[in-house]
Amino acid sequence: MTAIHKTGLVVVAGAGGFIGGHLVANLLASGFWRVRAVDLKPVEEWYQRFNDVDNRQLDLRVRSACCDATRGADYVFNLAADMGGMGFIENNKALCMLSVLINTHMLEASRDNGASRFFFSSSACVYRADRQLSPDIEALREEDAYPAMPEDGYGWEKLFSERMCRHFTEDFGLQTRVARYHNVYGPHGTYDGGREKAPAAVCRKVIAAKLSGKHEIEIWGDGQQTRSFTYIDDCVKGTRLLMDSGVPEPLNVGSSQMVTINQLVDIAEQVAGITLMRKYKLDAPKGVRGRNSDNTRIRALVNWEPSWRLEDGLERTYRWIYDQMLSGGRSIVNAS
Ligand code: NAD
Repeated sequence: MTAIHKTGLVVVAGAGGFIGGHLVANLLASGFWRVRAVDLKPVEEWYQRFNDVDNRQLDLRVRSACCDATRGADYVFNLAADMGGMGFIENNKALCMLSVLINTHMLEASRDNGASRFFFSSSACVYRADRQLSPDIEALREEDAYPAMPEDGYGWEKLFSERMCRHFTEDFGLQTRVARYHNVYGPHGTYDGGREKAPAAVCRKVIAAKLSGKHEIEIWGDGQQTRSFTYIDDCVKGTRLLMDSGVPEPLNVGSSQMVTINQLVDIAEQVAGITLMRKYKLDAPKGVRGRNSDNTRIRALVNWEPSWRLEDGLERTYRWIYDQMLSGGRSIVNAS
């Protein structure tokens, strides 16, 4: 299988969001010049937007919009989803599952429009709940998704859509690539409003404490739950390598540097140069008890490994959120 070609028309769905915006930037920087970026949000609200790109506002739950989005496309990266951090997905299961409309229609439209490769952004939330019951969990291998017991709502939708990718390949010959992202973080993403994930939320809370002088922080759960966090540059690199590969099966794209949420807060405090009084909100949404990514397969099949230490990636993220909060601006940039 050869790498996707720079002369091809590339569609990025969900391009107004966090990972999609970084992916468009990366494609342009690496010489792709026919890029179509699509998102539900008005273009002015995209986290990153680029002038030399065909930017379109479309609702990809609607089949005709998917047909428009993928017309003439050679390659499709589908990152569009109605999603957020634990606080959002635990309280919006139906909305999360309705992303199945996006994924179904994008697959059908990509097939009908003759796309040669299709990327789907799945999630570590597809993994069996009973493999994630303790903080010192063994890292999750790809086979740990079955027998199915994923995160309710969001995880079921991702697992179902992974299987649709597989069957579109088997039955219709559409080449599909599937990444299971593990908690991706970095600049130009959501840090407030209810959809933010733990790294951005922790940075925002630490910055708010620093700016206000009220040196306390609320932590969801007891802080002992474990996770690994993937810096956006590693995520985009893994995405590109996976898309270029000949691997049709879902692969983890995640960091294997596992930390507790308390350790995540420690790092943010170090960046801020303050120590905070911690208040634990035990009844808040907190997700599984422990989660980490086993990268044996992706290392072997795609030669990808994360290179960013959490300490470095979080510092970058912190500084970007700090600038946003200080300027009072939302996380929108104009780029060209
Ligand atoms: P994001 O919310 O920043 O981006 C998703 C984008 O999809 C948003 O801009 C949103 O407006 C758009 N969208 C939603 N509904 C749409 C619709 N009907 N039509 C068109 N666009 C629509 O999220 P992200 O962090 O960039 O995630 C990208 C993908 O990766 C998603 O599929 C997500 O489920 C998956 N993922 C992300 C993470 C993570 O940690 N960020 C982890 C696992 C999986």
